[in-house]
Amino acid sequence: MQTSGTDHLARSRRNRFTAVRLNREVELRDDATWVTETLTKPNTRLVPLWRSRSLLERSADGTTAIYLSPKDLTEPDRIQPPTLLGNDGKREYFAVSVTDSQKDDILAVFPDACFADLRRASIDMAAKHAGILAYAKALHYWQHRHAFCGVCGHPNRLRSAGHRMVCSNEECSRESFPRIDPAIIVLVTHKDACLLGRNAKWPPKQFSTLAGFVEPGESLEDAVVREVHEEVQLDLEDIRYVSSQPWPFPASAMCGFYAEAVNRDSGISEEVDETRWFTVDSLTTAVLDDKVRLSPTVSIAFRLLADWFRKSGGGDLEDLVRRQRR
Ligand SMILES: [Zn+2]
Repeated sequence: MQTSGTDHLARSRRNRFTAVRLNREVELRDDATWVTETLTKPNTRLVPLWRSRSLLERSADGTTAIYLSPKDLTEPDRIQPPTLLGNDGKREYFAVSVTDSQKDDILAVFPDACFADLRRASIDMAAKHAGILAYAKALHYWQHRHAFCGVCGHPNRLRSAGHRMVCSNEECSRESFPRIDPAIIVLVTHKDACLLGRNAKWPPKQFSTLAGFVEPGESLEDAVVREVHEEVQLDLEDIRYVSSQPWPFPASAMCGFYAEAVNRDSGISEEVDETRWFTVDSLTTAVLDDKVRLSPTVSIAFRLLADWFRKSGGGDLEDLVRRQRR
């Protein structure tokens, strides 16, 4: 019998960008000899990032992640030393930052590839590779935004194969670690309906679940209660954690919840300037008639809604979105 803990693990593994298939080899990160040797092995794969964009190739069959062999990249440490990601049972993966000229060299070798935004491209990618690229992108973002010590301003140096930074000022020597910003995302329901909100800055017809960052001094559940009240002035009577998702756009960990509201008297706010309650039937009609556009299918926002839709008898929401008459 599964415990609720493994239920959550299984549910989170269904979310895009969970790189759980990689053994992160934490114990090897400080073994400089092993790292140097592994970086030259022909079997090793490098995950190139240029200006936070991933190397991808698009075809009629979907999007493929392009990895490099060590021989494909000259001077791999010109910006930052490569970062150890882990082993997939066959080989090690390292993330590498590439310069503008290295980017041009790579694209000359892979003329059908391009450096592109992972968020959009991941929709039709194999889950394993979307996870590896998301993991690489998250570390790359942190490394490039923490180039200097936050205490004394001296340059930071990467250590532990890219997973730790140490201030180069010996008197300071402050350590820092990859930063993740926890955020909650919640599908609010009331009996047979769920609530979706809209922000005026979003594209037309776009509606989604409510979300916000967790503040210092709050539990995840406190953040759910506060955000829902701030954004749509609803009180909740039941909150249930569902699953989580790494969301490296740029550095979030999304914690997904369902929450049952005490009534449907939802209001609006600066962040949410329109709300709508949907039953399975009204959401079906709104999606098919292109009155409502939902979050990308790779997002936990979509996953929360799709699971509610299925459990409420609505069937496959992804299929419904594909049939949207745009
Ligand atoms: Zn310092």
